Amino acid sequence: MNAQLQSAPAGEFRLLINGRLVDGASTFDVINPATEELVARCPRADLNQLNQAVAAAKAAFPAWSATPIAQRREKLLQFAGALEARLEDIARLLTQEQGKPLAAAKGELFGAIYIIRTIAALDLPVKVLREGDGARIVRRHGPLGVIAAITPWNFPVILLATKLAPALLAGNTMVAKPAPTTPLTSLRLGEIAAKVFPAGVFNVVTDVNDLGSALTAHPDVAKVAFTGSTATGKKVMASAAGTVKRVTLELGGNDAAIVLDDMAPADAAAKLFAGAMANSGQVCMAIKRAYVPESMYDAVCAELAKLADAAVVGDGLDEKTQFGPLQNAQQFRKVQEYIEDARAHGRIIAGGTPHKGRGYFIRPTIVRDIAESSRLVQEEQFGPVLPVLSYKTLDDAIARANASEYGLAGTVWSNDPERAMDVAMKLDTGTVWINKHLDLPADVPFGGARQSGLGAEMGQDGLEEYTQAHIVNQAI
Ligand code: NAD
Repeated sequence: MNAQLQSAPAGEFRLLINGRLVDGASTFDVINPATEELVARCPRADLNQLNQAVAAAKAAFPAWSATPIAQRREKLLQFAGALEARLEDIARLLTQEQGKPLAAAKGELFGAIYIIRTIAALDLPVKVLREGDGARIVRRHGPLGVIAAITPWNFPVILLATKLAPALLAGNTMVAKPAPTTPLTSLRLGEIAAKVFPAGVFNVVTDVNDLGSALTAHPDVAKVAFTGSTATGKKVMASAAGTVKRVTLELGGNDAAIVLDDMAPADAAAKLFAGAMANSGQVCMAIKRAYVPESMYDAVCAELAKLADAAVVGDGLDEKTQFGPLQNAQQFRKVQEYIEDARAHGRIIAGGTPHKGRGYFIRPTIVRDIAESSRLVQEEQFGPVLPVLSYKTLDDAIARANASEYGLAGTVWSNDPERAMDVAMKLDTGTVWINKHLDLPADVPFGGARQSGLGAEMGQDGLEEYTQAHIVNQAI
């Protein structure tokens, strides 16, 4: 079943089109954000290669969708096993292109493998909706066709796995397009996939932010599974309208954390700090604004500043490093703008001074006494800068948390389970965690409210988003 393969030698990268590892029409440079040195020259697909990839996925669809789900599951498990065998070297590559500490990069690989295995265990049985009264009505879930998977640069491996596993399990084929600053790990996944899946079932093309619209408008793409910013998500939705494509959009967030007044300040600060600074703040569901009771405000701010001052920031390949750089120069500049805005509208009590020398480093930065209307509070900073806001009443904190065009997730921190649950039930977001953060079981769906997204990923709901429901209504 497999097409002819050429294995790319270590350190070299190829596109995957129709089961073949091929050079791009040209190349572009991928830069290590910790050193600003070249990681690798990356192949760059042109429009012709993008069209070839879509054509290959379209041609592979009839046979793959007719393959029994048990065999598709087997292939996914084989893929997960092959990824596990390459975990060390792909994790190192992830640190080099993305910047995150090596332990976190390994964590991302383990997470991707866990997601593939968990989703592979799901099923799409035919469901009897009614039997009797003269009718037998059943629903089956059929695949859609070619899926375009478009991913961002903060978790390039896990976010691709989240799309690949349900799409292929359901019988679809895929063209994946990673972000231009983190394409190399996706190409490595392509190299592994070439040995596992039949030609054309999974394809990877790379670009410099210039092929996304051609992919999302392509008449032979049935669905776009997109993770990225809300601004680009809106373009994807508009572009998909031409052929009424299905879209799943996982977009930005401005997640609030609400601390209740029964928490010890040091405990609250530790939780807030971890939730805001993981992956140097470049997490869609990071804590992006913290609401703290007036009575604890000074103490929590002081503890947060202590943690920020003690943080070890550096190259992710150095094992002492807790926080890596911002992923790319553009994001580095953007976060510095938020810091300058915070300086004008609030008080920076830790971090906030620009890094001198190589690498896109920004130390964890804590801002207090900042106006609710400031950009840092109202927008998605997507970096290691946390605004801490005080509140008088819980109703006020909940109203301010909900006053956002975003609605991705949120957290509530309290030693009182009932009060915490009461607050959580009033937050208008896709996910709320109580006394934990970023716990995302792959058998549980997640998705954003309002402009944080459309549809769900993971779990049975996420799997079914890669299918068309067909109703068969039989007279009996
Ligand atoms: P981005 O929107 O700039 O880019 C995402 C992807 O879209 C990239 O692959 C890019 O090349 C591609 N793209 C660019 N223009 C396009 C177009 N016109 N049509 C189609 N695709 C196009 O996002 P980013 O800066 O890479 O990622 C950061 C954002 O992603 C943040 O807002 C973050 O919150 C969000 N995010 C959301 C989730 C979630 O699950 N909700 C997860 C991770 C990141």
